[in-house]
Amino acid sequence: MTLVASEAVPFAKTGGLGDVVGAIPRALSRLGVNVTVVLPAYPPCFQQPHEDTGKSITILMGDKPRKARLLRATFPGGLGELVLIDQPDLYQRSGIYGDPSGADYPDNCERFAFLCRAAFEALDVLDLPVDCLHAHDWQGGLVPAYLRHLYGDHPRFRHAGSLFTIHNAVFQGIFPKGQWRHLGLGESLFSRGNLDYHDQICFLKGGILESAIVTAVSERYAKEIQGPEFGCGMDPFLRDRAHARRLVGIVNGIDVEHWDPAMDAALPSVFDRKRWRKGKSECKRALLRELGLPEVPGRPLLGMVGRLTEQKGLDLFVGGAESLMHLNAQYVVLGTGEERYRSFFSRLMAEYPERVAARFAFDEGLAHRIYAGSDMFLMPSRFEPCGLSQLYGLRYGSVPVVHAVGGLVDTVCPVTPRNLANHKATGFSFQQFTAEAFVRCLRRATQAFADKKLWSSLVERGMREDWSWENSARHYLETYKSAKEHRLLELGARSS
Ligand code: ADP
Repeated sequence: MTLVASEAVPFAKTGGLGDVVGAIPRALSRLGVNVTVVLPAYPPCFQQPHEDTGKSITILMGDKPRKARLLRATFPGGLGELVLIDQPDLYQRSGIYGDPSGADYPDNCERFAFLCRAAFEALDVLDLPVDCLHAHDWQGGLVPAYLRHLYGDHPRFRHAGSLFTIHNAVFQGIFPKGQWRHLGLGESLFSRGNLDYHDQICFLKGGILESAIVTAVSERYAKEIQGPEFGCGMDPFLRDRAHARRLVGIVNGIDVEHWDPAMDAALPSVFDRKRWRKGKSECKRALLRELGLPEVPGRPLLGMVGRLTEQKGLDLFVGGAESLMHLNAQYVVLGTGEERYRSFFSRLMAEYPERVAARFAFDEGLAHRIYAGSDMFLMPSRFEPCGLSQLYGLRYGSVPVVHAVGGLVDTVCPVTPRNLANHKATGFSFQQFTAEAFVRCLRRATQAFADKKLWSSLVERGMREDWSWENSARHYLETYKSAKEHRLLELGARSS
């Protein structure tokens, strides 16, 4: 199996995409499948063990030929391999998608078109078998188009199936059509409409239309993106694909070895689902100390880790700030992102230094300590394709409080009288995306925190749940198989 993506833990990560692409190879390897991930060689990749294959590729896209060295690396534990595309002009930069100010690099069209094209050339030069090509998000969006239109008759790729996974339909890879020359595809493909979106190039649309099968990262999100509210303009194409039974929802899992409160080296104290009270309260005490927040017995600590963007529902925090500061709660926020949210949390922290601690950095260790040391994990996302953080929250005994949307619906069973009676509830959720509903939900959650028996049952149930990759990896395997069958049928139809 071959994955093409712009992130893969531990080589590159800005969010959930990196976690997922880093975890699939391990999960598939355990099922006996050989996996190779093709990834750009960003600066942090060179800190991981790797070797130079001594081979290179040269691709003419646009006006100049670009050469790339091919490096090989292995995922930890030898579970899955990588091909790293070392093209310093395109990938030796401080960020993956843009500079620290948040501005996208102006040549992202060329950078990720090159990645998709380089994947084919590299797999061929390195003589690697290709069964199915699995491309991720808009950065991998040209892979299915290249497979169909440039490499469809190439013996190595002729029988390969193609799968395209949407991790977030908001990010679409839209560029002026003047940049078409970077794609190395004939002009007629643009006018035929496959990659053309309102007279611009759209990588995401290309991935949706040209792949054998499209997947989204939860069943709920696979439905939501067929409608105008969450489809972000892609909904008509996604509806078509769904009618043709070519759109599938496969919920993400988590890497339960990397995210294990019983083994986590980032934590001051470890714990497991059977004995969690002592370890978790030591983690909480240490975290409060690290953040400079006072310890107040009986007061829950509410954590948030994530991109500080509109998607993550921060406007509900802004709108409800006054009421939130009157709840019996303390808050810790870790994130990078938009200036307006950073200044909001800075102000809140200055005004309520005993209640709020915010850190604006990408800090993996602190993220782990927040999952372990907080009592609740907040995800009031406006939309959420799957969300991994709530799964980490569940595994680390931090009860999720979520907006009932996307993957959050598929993964958090809300506290209701019925779900409590059936011993199913694992978190709190609210339906309407308003500050009032968010505050009401948090009020309920903080009151429930005072009920020790109820709280313990929530924590324990969440920690017991199995969100490992195994089931989803099997689902991907089946889907690879049908993507390949579609390809064989297509070839059969062509030759008959
Ligand atoms: P998304 O992919 O939309 O960003 P997810 O919940 O799927 O959201 O995944 C987010 C991942 O990124 C989680 O592993 C989370 O812990 C991590 N993360 C986000 N922001 C930070 C940060 N500032 N520091 C450390 N880890 C972060």
